[in-house]
Order: sequence, then C-alpha cells, then structure tokens
Amino acid sequence: MNYNSTRDNTLKVSAASAIATGIAPDGGLFVPETVPTLSENDFNALMGMNYIERAVFIFKKFLTDFTEQEIEYCAKGAYSGTFENDVPAPLYTLKDGTHILELWHGPTCAFKDLALQILPYLLTTSAKKVSKAKETVILVATSGDTGKAALEGFCDVEGTKIVVFYPSDGVSPMQKHQMCTQKGENVSVCAIKGNFDDAQSAVKKIFTDCETAKLLEKNGMQFSSANSINWGRLAPQIIYYVSAYCDLLKKDESVRTNGFNIVVPTGNFGNILAAYYAKKMGVPVKKLICASNANNVLTDFLKTGTYNKNRDFYTTVSPSMDILISSNLERMLYELSDHDDAFVAKMQSDLAQKGMYTVSDKVKARFNELFYGGCCDDESTLKTIKETWEKFGYLCDTHTAVAVNVYNSYVKETGDNTQTVIASTASPYKFCASVLSAFQEKAPEKEFDAVDLLSAKTGVKIPEPLLALKDAKVRFTDICEKDKIEDFVLNYLKI
Ligand SMILES: *Cc1c(COP(=O)(O)O)cnc(C)c1O
Repeated sequence: MNYNSTRDNTLKVSAASAIATGIAPDGGLFVPETVPTLSENDFNALMGMNYIERAVFIFKKFLTDFTEQEIEYCAKGAYSGTFENDVPAPLYTLKDGTHILELWHGPTCAFKDLALQILPYLLTTSAKKVSKAKETVILVATSGDTGKAALEGFCDVEGTKIVVFYPSDGVSPMQKHQMCTQKGENVSVCAIKGNFDDAQSAVKKIFTDCETAKLLEKNGMQFSSANSINWGRLAPQIIYYVSAYCDLLKKDESVRTNGFNIVVPTGNFGNILAAYYAKKMGVPVKKLICASNANNVLTDFLKTGTYNKNRDFYTTVSPSMDILISSNLERMLYELSDHDDAFVAKMQSDLAQKGMYTVSDKVKARFNELFYGGCCDDESTLKTIKETWEKFGYLCDTHTAVAVNVYNSYVKETGDNTQTVIASTASPYKFCASVLSAFQEKAPEKEFDAVDLLSAKTGVKIPEPLLALKDAKVRFTDICEKDKIEDFVLNYLKI
C-alpha cells in the first residue's frame, strides 16, 4: 500500500518512506492511498487476541512493505513489559454505563505512550529500508505530553537523536519535571519563549528547509518527526480504538449492530482522526465527539465551516489541548473532500497567509454528519472533575474532564443514548494542582507534596513512573527565543 501527500496525490511513497521522513516535501501530510477494511470474521478473530496480536494484525494492513517478523518485533518491543499489567488500553465502565478508555498506563502516564513506545521501532526499521542516513534526528514540538513520551521512547535508541521544544509557560509542573529530568545520551530538551503553535510552526519550517536538509545529509543525518504529523504516530492510535471495540463486543454483542460513540479531548486532531480511521476500517462508530477547551477553534469550525486561528490564545488547565493550529485536520479535509489535493493545498495556504479558511457547504455537511463539536472553559472542567468524583468515585484528569463535560452537553442536547467510549488521555497525577483546585484544595508548593495530598484525599493509586521521578536530577534548563530554534538544533548536533 502506498501513501500520498495531502497536497499532491500524484506523490506516492511506501509506508517506510512516509514514516522515515515524517512529512512530505511539499509540506503536506502522508495519508494511506486507501484505508483497509476489517470484516466481521476479522473482528471475531481480533476479539480472541491480546493487544500485541491485535496490533500486529492491523499493522500488517497498513505497513505492507514491512515483513511479518519486523512488525512482530516492533509490536512486542513496544507493548510488552512497558504498560501496567501489560494491558495498554483497558476499558473501565462507570456506574451509568459510560465507558472510559484509559490510555495512560504507560511509562509517561499519557496516551501519547501508545504511539511513542512503538514509533522508535517503526522509525528505525523504516530508516534501514529507505534511508542512506546513518542517524535520524527527531524534532518534537510539545504541548507537554508528546515531549516526555517521545524522550522516553527514543531514549538511547541507536541511530537516533531527539530534541524537544516546549512552551516555557505552557506545561504543568509535572510535565516539565518529567522532561527536564530525562535520562539518555541522545536527548536534549529546551523551553521556548512562545506557545505550542510557535514551537510547532518553527519545527515544521526546519523540516521543509532544503538548505538545512542538505547540511544534515552531508553529515549523515536526516530529520524526522515524532509529532502526530508522522503517520507512524497515527497508525498505532487506530489500534486502540479497534481494540476497544473488540473489548466492548466481548461485554455486549449488541454493539455490533447498534454501534457506539467516541468522545475525544482534542488538540492537534490526531487522536480523533485515528478514531475516524478506525470507523473507516469498519468499527461501527456512530458520532465522533470532538471536545475542546477554551481554545475552541475546532468547535467554531464545525459550527460555521470557517477555521479561524486569529483569536486569543488561552493557557488553560488542560495544557495539552492549548492549540490553535490543529495539524491533523489537514488529513481530515483530504478524506472528506474525496482526496482533493488542490483543495487541501488551497486551504493550507489560506491558513498560512490569512490565518483562516472556509470549506464548501458540501465538505462542511460531511464534517457535521460525522462529528459533533463542543467546548468548555476551565471552571466547567474543574466542576466536572468534582462531579465525576462525587457521582462515580472516578478521578479524571483535566483533559478527560473536558471530554466528559462535552459528552454530557451532547447527551442533553440530542438525547442520544447510544453506548459511548470516552478517551481518557492522561493520569490526574500529571495535573495535581488543577485537580486539587477542583476540590477547593490549594496545592502545596512542592509538586510531590501535591501528589501526596491528592493521593491522601482520593485514595487513587499514584502511577509508578511518576513516583520514580521524585528525587530525579534536573538535567535541562535551556530557554531560547522562538526564532532561534534552528540554531539550537544545529548547535546540539555540532554541525
Ligand atoms: C496530546 C493530548 C491531547 C490532544 O490530543 P490530539 O491528538 O493532539 O488531539 C489531549 N489530552 C492529552 C492529555 C494529551 O496529551
């Protein structure tokens, strides 16, 4: 199976090439030529499998230039011994029947682990197939969770170096601590004076700069991306939605005919896009519910058909969703315009030049058929954490709470009582101060005192990987201007 660029579908590359390079030379994103489908027999077979077997089964359909041995090597390396109880994506059901897909039982306690534990395997395997470069340099822009998950995934992986940029005032204290204490000989972390969009734009610019690419090539290096613009990030995310459907089926066969909704707390549109691809593969998903925080550019887009990033940027209690340029929406535009590359290129150039674009009524109607968009502010997010705790004894993090809140509004508005899976994207212990404030508790100054207080108050288990960082030494303290990112990278690479 080949991959096209969203901005030029005459460009065709193999999966290995799409993953090794991360982004198309024209600035577009790689998308599968056709989305493989799963039959009822496939689902029946998948029901009897564990997570690794399910992953192998699905990867085989997307990575047709990988051998079965290579895919098995990648999936086993990524998902055995790395997630709590070796169950990467458990489904928890609240007393009212709502399902919570807990995606934060990995080494960094956020859903990014599901993809970033396997990406280094996919990437090094891909690079061996298609690239002459001896070393792959991973550049990451993070709103908090991707950075740590990528560092953990690529730490001391042979043939790779990784540089992470995070907004200096835009991540939680625990997220910052996780990144700045990262171990490994091939890692570097730097704060930037700017927000996530600044970091993402700067990193994307370095990727598509020919001069810089030549300089790297001369030194036996090649850039790639660990952000969800890389297909190697998205494909692993499709797996947990298929897996969740199989787990639902095991509990209740009726979901096969009745279908279910999926709610995703959304920032860069990667996670919800993966849910869309799962639907396209044959998972009976009814509505995809796109939940945003105060940075509600997607809610407005779904309502009006105009995507407009010219607006105030808010720093919220759900920092991993503080994003105004949702990169992966580009792939969705491509899918819902029937692969109209010229249309996508036009929308993206409007976005770059005017900060906005408007889709046709037809494309908008297609979005509205598939998606429901909603948003909530910090006050409602915190209120939802408290209510969910009081009603169900379930403690959710600030991002998951946005999803729960928007789902409640959706049900109130539509009366839809279809079974629903809410993607839970992080452990509440990554955002202690905010979660404590939901209970009117002031967080102690020291982060791990806040962890202890939240644990004492709720009795919810503290994840081991966070506990292990309590006395970890801070290794990275650099801060740079947003227009100096490239210098920082070249300096680190000593070229
Ligand atoms: C990254 C992240 C999100 C947003 O996911 P996207 O794929 O960027 O839409 C939501 N919640 C948490 C905790 C995250 O880390």
